[in-house]
Amino acid sequence: MNKKEISESIAAVSNYLYEKGLVPGKSGNISCKFSENGVKKVAITPSGVSLKSVTPEEIVIVDMDGNKIDEVMNQNNKRDKKPSSEVFMHLKVYKNRNDVKSVVHTHSPIATGFAFAGVEIKRLEGFGPIENTVIPLVDYAAPGTMDLAENVAKGMEKEDIVSLKNHGIVACGENLDEAALLTEFVEESAKIQFVTSLISAN
Ligand SMILES: [Zn+2]
Repeated sequence: MNKKEISESIAAVSNYLYEKGLVPGKSGNISCKFSENGVKKVAITPSGVSLKSVTPEEIVIVDMDGNKIDEVMNQNNKRDKKPSSEVFMHLKVYKNRNDVKSVVHTHSPIATGFAFAGVEIKRLEGFGPIENTVIPLVDYAAPGTMDLAENVAKGMEKEDIVSLKNHGIVACGENLDEAALLTEFVEESAKIQFVTSLISAN
């Protein structure tokens, strides 16, 4: 896929995840790694824009160090968007995992509730090879910091999905759909675990 097609896919998945309630308000961010003329680049959602309405023209292109390289021109012929404040979290995951081509970060309410409560979400079938019976909980660090980027990248060395303490969910995959589906699936898993715990309590 070229830069334009990748930006269109990111915008479409962003809008979809918002509709599903997984990235309320201005939360969440999505990126894809790609190669252009042999140079590795990352396309990422912009800072300060709700994924509800983000457009392909607003997707920002950065190099592997997070420097903005390019942005598809918007309607006013302007390039004015900054990359997501979590850009270093995405870049760290790509640096640690060569197989990963997409990273999706959500604040889906049920899974995030578990993350705030410090309760691990049980892994249901469909997550691929199961090494852990729960989704690992990554230590808290403030959003947008290198500490958070380090914690997440470390947590994802052998995992495609992690829960961030007091924050939300990060998933990765070899393509955008795979990573996005994982975020949907973890929300469903958390929902089922929550309902199960209510029923079992009576
Ligand atoms: Zn977040």
